[in-house]
Amino acid sequence: MRLERAQQYETVAGRIDAALAAGSLAVDPIEPWDTSITPYSYARMRADEAANRGIPDIFSYYFRCTACNLRFNLLCEVYHGSGGHWIAVPD
Ligand SMILES: [Zn+2]
Repeated sequence: MRLERAQQYETVAGRIDAALAAGSLAVDPIEPWDTSITPYSYARMRADEAANRGIPDIFSYYFRCTACNLRFNLLCEVYHGSGGHWIAVPD
Protein backbone atom coordinates (compact mmCIF):
# COMPACT_ATOMS: atom_id res chain seq x y z
CA MET A 1 0.00 0.00 0.00
CA ARG A 2 1.08 3.59 -0.63
CA LEU A 3 1.65 5.71 2.45
CA GLU A 4 0.44 9.21 1.69
CA ARG A 5 0.09 10.58 5.20
CA ALA A 6 1.88 10.25 8.52
CA GLN A 7 -1.25 8.66 10.00
CA GLN A 8 -0.98 5.80 7.49
CA TYR A 9 2.62 5.23 8.50
CA GLU A 10 1.56 5.01 12.16
CA THR A 11 -1.14 2.47 11.30
CA VAL A 12 1.27 0.28 9.33
CA ALA A 13 4.02 0.59 11.95
CA GLY A 14 1.54 -0.41 14.64
CA ARG A 15 0.64 -3.53 12.64
CA ILE A 16 4.33 -4.31 12.09
CA ASP A 17 5.02 -3.99 15.82
CA ALA A 18 2.10 -6.29 16.63
CA ALA A 19 3.23 -8.86 14.05
CA LEU A 20 6.82 -8.74 15.34
CA ALA A 21 5.54 -9.26 18.89
CA ALA A 22 3.33 -12.15 17.77
CA GLY A 23 6.16 -13.74 15.80
CA SER A 24 4.34 -13.74 12.46
CA LEU A 25 6.82 -11.19 11.10
CA ALA A 26 10.57 -10.94 11.68
CA VAL A 27 13.24 -8.39 10.81
CA ASP A 28 14.91 -9.67 7.64
CA PRO A 29 18.17 -11.35 8.79
CA ILE A 30 19.72 -10.84 5.33
CA GLU A 31 18.96 -7.14 4.84
CA PRO A 32 17.39 -5.60 7.98
CA TRP A 33 17.49 -2.12 6.51
CA ASP A 34 18.79 -0.15 3.52
CA THR A 35 22.08 1.10 4.92
CA SER A 36 22.51 3.69 2.14
CA ILE A 37 19.62 5.78 3.45
CA THR A 38 18.66 4.31 6.85
CA PRO A 39 21.05 4.96 9.74
CA TYR A 40 19.88 2.35 12.27
CA SER A 41 17.53 -0.48 13.11
CA TYR A 42 13.75 -0.47 13.08
CA ALA A 43 13.69 -1.24 16.81
CA ARG A 44 15.85 1.79 17.60
CA MET A 45 13.84 4.01 15.26
CA ARG A 46 10.56 3.01 16.95
CA ALA A 47 12.09 3.48 20.42
CA ASP A 48 13.34 6.94 19.44
CA GLU A 49 9.93 7.78 18.03
CA ALA A 50 8.15 6.64 21.19
CA ALA A 51 10.50 8.78 23.29
CA ASN A 52 10.04 11.83 21.00
CA ARG A 53 13.70 11.79 20.02
CA GLY A 54 12.79 12.10 16.35
CA ILE A 55 13.18 9.70 13.42
CA PRO A 56 15.24 9.77 10.21
CA ASP A 57 13.95 11.91 7.32
CA ILE A 58 13.87 8.80 5.16
CA PHE A 59 14.09 5.14 6.10
CA SER A 60 13.69 1.74 4.48
CA TYR A 61 13.32 -1.50 6.47
CA TYR A 62 12.93 -5.13 5.41
CA PHE A 63 10.91 -7.83 7.13
CA ARG A 64 9.96 -11.45 6.45
CA CYS A 65 6.80 -13.41 7.01
CA THR A 66 7.81 -16.25 9.33
CA ALA A 67 5.25 -18.58 7.70
CA CYS A 68 6.12 -18.23 3.99
CA ASN A 69 9.41 -16.22 4.05
CA LEU A 70 7.96 -13.50 1.82
CA ARG A 71 9.97 -10.28 2.14
CA PHE A 72 8.35 -6.91 2.80
CA ASN A 73 9.66 -3.36 2.60
CA LEU A 74 8.60 -0.39 4.69
CA LEU A 75 9.75 2.85 3.07
CA CYS A 76 8.92 6.28 4.44
CA GLU A 77 10.08 9.70 3.44
CA VAL A 78 9.05 11.87 6.35
CA TYR A 79 10.98 14.94 5.21
CA HIS A 80 9.15 15.26 1.92
CA GLY A 81 5.68 14.74 3.32
CA SER A 82 5.28 11.16 4.45
CA GLY A 83 5.49 9.49 1.04
CA GLY A 84 6.30 5.81 1.11
CA HIS A 85 4.99 2.28 0.90
CA TRP A 86 4.50 -1.07 2.58
CA ILE A 87 4.89 -3.71 -0.08
CA ALA A 88 5.97 -7.29 -0.68
CA VAL A 89 9.28 -7.38 -2.57
CA PRO A 90 10.87 -10.36 -4.33
CA ASP A 91 14.26 -11.64 -3.18
ZN1 LIG B 1 3.54 -15.36 4.63
